[in-house]
Amino acid sequence: MHYGIDVGGTKTEIAIYDRDWLCLDRWRAPTPANDGEAFLTMLADMVQEADRRLGSRGTLGLGFPGVLDDQGHLVTANLPGLRPFVLETALTAHLDRAFVIENDSRCFVVSETGPGGAAEGVTEAFGAILGTGAGGGAIVAGRLLKGAGRFAGEWGHLPLPATVAKRHDLPLLPCGCGLEACLETYIAGPGLVKLHRHFGGVSASAEQWHQAWLAGENAAQQTHACHLELLGGALANVVKLLSPQVIVVGGGLSTMEGLVAALPTAIAGHLFPGVEVPDVVRSRLGDASGVRGAAMLGAEVSTNVRV
Ligand SMILES: [Zn+2]
Repeated sequence: MHYGIDVGGTKTEIAIYDRDWLCLDRWRAPTPANDGEAFLTMLADMVQEADRRLGSRGTLGLGFPGVLDDQGHLVTANLPGLRPFVLETALTAHLDRAFVIENDSRCFVVSETGPGGAAEGVTEAFGAILGTGAGGGAIVAGRLLKGAGRFAGEWGHLPLPATVAKRHDLPLLPCGCGLEACLETYIAGPGLVKLHRHFGGVSASAEQWHQAWLAGENAAQQTHACHLELLGGALANVVKLLSPQVIVVGGGLSTMEGLVAALPTAIAGHLFPGVEVPDVVRSRLGDASGVRGAAMLGAEVSTNVRV
């Protein structure tokens, strides 16, 4: 059996899978985001509870938001309580078995290229999550691309395409990562609101923007067109770098009407002649993809090694 844990800023989920990746059980608990010790104890309790329910010991993979810095500390705004800990060392002290940890966006693409995923069996794929942020991960030659610093796939922190920025006279906004004009600031959910303010001059929620767009309101149409151009430029950069066969899009914005279907044309607008646009598909496993991908990575190891 295989356990996956998906750590979020407010909720943490554990799921138990059999060898065919059928989910046998899953449950959630509130994340004690400001209390690292309580958080680590909660993880240990979750794993023990899974053993108890199963009457066995499963392999373990954990998906986290954020990235590890060069000291092994987790860098994320969502879990301030964990900041003092060297994450892998702290987990080793609390968990009674080998485990794998990985960024949750990388877990997403592992799951979507696995059995039943939107890109099942594809050996060159990119997974792009568009929700409150813009995360991602790549499968290269059938394996998750980790990179020396373990942050390969962070397409959301590529810079704004200059051509699109100039065409729409976009402001260079600060990003939470400390850089300026990262794509995430414009293309993720909160970015849509910022774009709408830029074009319409008024503040509106994402839902208000959506209603205005459906009603054909001018600033909302401009927002939509610019957003699509930015996404096309961003994913075209991914295509130039990795040449994936399939791009899988997940996260809240992936359910926006027509978005995924419009992406191949938007990407093509930023590629030079002769470069083939990959297939762009929507996530098949939805919100369950992260926890399943974590479990899949955990199943690959029998010793406590870094991935
Ligand atoms: Zn950034």
